[in-house]
Amino acid sequence: MKKIALHWQILIGMLLGLVFGFIMLSVDGGKDFVSDWIKPLGSIFVKLLKLIAIPLILASLIKGISDLKDISKFRDIGLRTIVIYIITTVIAITIGLVLVNIFEPGGGVSEETISKLTTTYASDSSVQDKIAEASRQKDSGPLQFLEDMVPDNAFQALSNNKLMLQVIFFAIFLGISMLLIGEKRAKPLKDLFDSLNDVVLKMVDLIMLSAPYAVFALLASVVVSSDDPDILMALVQYAGVVLLGLALMIVVYSTFVGTIVRKNPFWFLKEISPAQLLAFSTSSSAATLPVTMERVEEHIGVDKEVSSFVLPVGATINMDGTSLYQAVAAVFIFQALGLDLTIGDQLTIVLTALLASIGSAAVPGAGMVMLVIVLESVGLPSDLLPIGLALIFAVDRPLDMCRTVVNVTGDATVSMLVAKSVGKLGEPKIKNWDDHYEEVK
Ligand code: ASP
Repeated sequence: MKKIALHWQILIGMLLGLVFGFIMLSVDGGKDFVSDWIKPLGSIFVKLLKLIAIPLILASLIKGISDLKDISKFRDIGLRTIVIYIITTVIAITIGLVLVNIFEPGGGVSEETISKLTTTYASDSSVQDKIAEASRQKDSGPLQFLEDMVPDNAFQALSNNKLMLQVIFFAIFLGISMLLIGEKRAKPLKDLFDSLNDVVLKMVDLIMLSAPYAVFALLASVVVSSDDPDILMALVQYAGVVLLGLALMIVVYSTFVGTIVRKNPFWFLKEISPAQLLAFSTSSSAATLPVTMERVEEHIGVDKEVSSFVLPVGATINMDGTSLYQAVAAVFIFQALGLDLTIGDQLTIVLTALLASIGSAAVPGAGMVMLVIVLESVGLPSDLLPIGLALIFAVDRPLDMCRTVVNVTGDATVSMLVAKSVGKLGEPKIKNWDDHYEEVK
């Protein structure tokens, strides 16, 4: 029997999860059943992906750099990556701003909806937490992010998934120093990381065997914990503008792949689709990172020298979907509250949303924390902040799922662009979980 392709298996799992979630909503005790018996399966899957993220970044980045043989190549890749990331993010924010100004979704929100959303969410603890978290982040100085990037204890950095940039810093430092001691002396360490890298990629294959079941569990739990459909309907115009913008970003990426990389965009989207579907189901680019790396390297043909740097850095600092959403959400909130934004304010949004997407963590809901900073930068009074967030809170989770897809697709696209520009885009070499199974069975 012909095996169904992985992306179809995952898609079927997602659809069944959605249907199951809706059925459970209408059954007495169904909600509790899903949280007690189904949700843990999804959480285990996300934990497994997170478990291998740090070993994978470490091994693949050290392998990537020590394969380079010459440091100037790394500088080349690094510079191109950062410049292209900034360009795609500015495109995303611009698309968001243009759409929200054309469609004015905030104009159609009635007083009644505003007060209903405010009473439901403004004092909600998650809204308050996001505001508190944003004020903690805002209080830091301009160079704080640089300081934060440098670990003072390598093992502490390696033991915390939130410190991905510190791990990247350590791996680059180690990799470059390995180049500098010469090939012969670096060989034992290089062999160790090469092998670790292969092992971790095999772990990705094994974890992915459970992906169709895991996404079933993840989506069923999202459905049972979602909000009242009436409230979602009130925000349908705003959500529509964000979704239209995100869809346009996929068109932008496809155009880059078709014209600059000269590959078929449909082929690209098909090969990357398992990572996109997981991004959607987990709402976390960090959890999706191991799968993104595996797809980009083995199924698209980007050389590890490029992907090992571009993808982990992208997962933490390049969030096109998030910055587009922040631009739309900020203007929407001003429109709904009847406040004016000048052209100067909108330019401020471009700049702060760019910085905010760099600062956002690659985890569910992080984009909303940074939105607070964007809102404050254009002068939203602090007493209106909870009301502003309350206006968009109900649809945040579904939009988070969609913007994470764009975040991950953006990283994959940029890795292809950089690889193409430095002559490191080769042919895909697909490995399966059972390539050596016969030998050890
Ligand atoms: N969930 C997003 C991500 O991980 C971040 C956000 O927009 O909240 O990419």
